[in-house]
Amino acid sequence: MDNHTGIDRRGALGAMALLGATGAFAASASGAQPATGSPLAGLGWDSAKGEYTLPPLPYDYAALEPHIDAQTMQIHHDKHHAGYVKGLNNALAKLAEARQAGDAGLIAHWSKQLSFHGSGHVNHTLFWLGMAPSGKGGGGEPSGSLRAAIDRDFGSFDKFSWQFREAAKSVEGSGWGWLVFEPLGRRLAVIQGENQQKLMLTGAAPLLGLDVWEHAYYLKYQNRRAEYVDAFMNVVNWGFVQSRFAEVSA
Ligand code: MN
Repeated sequence: MDNHTGIDRRGALGAMALLGATGAFAASASGAQPATGSPLAGLGWDSAKGEYTLPPLPYDYAALEPHIDAQTMQIHHDKHHAGYVKGLNNALAKLAEARQAGDAGLIAHWSKQLSFHGSGHVNHTLFWLGMAPSGKGGGGEPSGSLRAAIDRDFGSFDKFSWQFREAAKSVEGSGWGWLVFEPLGRRLAVIQGENQQKLMLTGAAPLLGLDVWEHAYYLKYQNRRAEYVDAFMNVVNWGFVQSRFAEVSA
């Protein structure tokens, strides 16, 4: 019986909910269907195949130039992000096998793999959507309720931007800079993520992520991470970030 490929949606989402670190999973797990109308809907879940698929980039590889080059975008999306999707599907399949076999020894290993690859899939899905071509939805400053919350919680947009960029620049090793919304205190925060998921703030929903793994910038910027981080601000899709904020703070 080919049971390991027969992960049903409920089972998969239940496993995902254990991650607990992202509003994206929480939003999907709260209902039988992914939220329609959201570009994040279902995270590329294919119910026919019973697995996650790689969502296409919402723009061409070269759309973010000169700030992020086409070759980096192509390798990052088609190879790195695809690898996390594959790793996530594999972890879910192996956990299903372990449950079926009652093999407790495998639970710790595959749970960590689920956390790493599942977070990798969420992070990159948010990362692509959080960017847009400069001057065509990318760059500038946020407005509306997000801007009001940024002014309240950071003092000003400039203070936020400085803190966000400094957090991203100073991640030790591979990781992320994040703007998140913590729903219990109902406060925005800037945090660092190490690796894909370490140092996350419990329950906080990620709004805007900046990937500072070397694979995200090394072809164009080599060791100049700070230059890449500053350039990223020219392609931030504040319209998307505002919609994420509205979704998770409602
Ligand atoms: Mn990456």
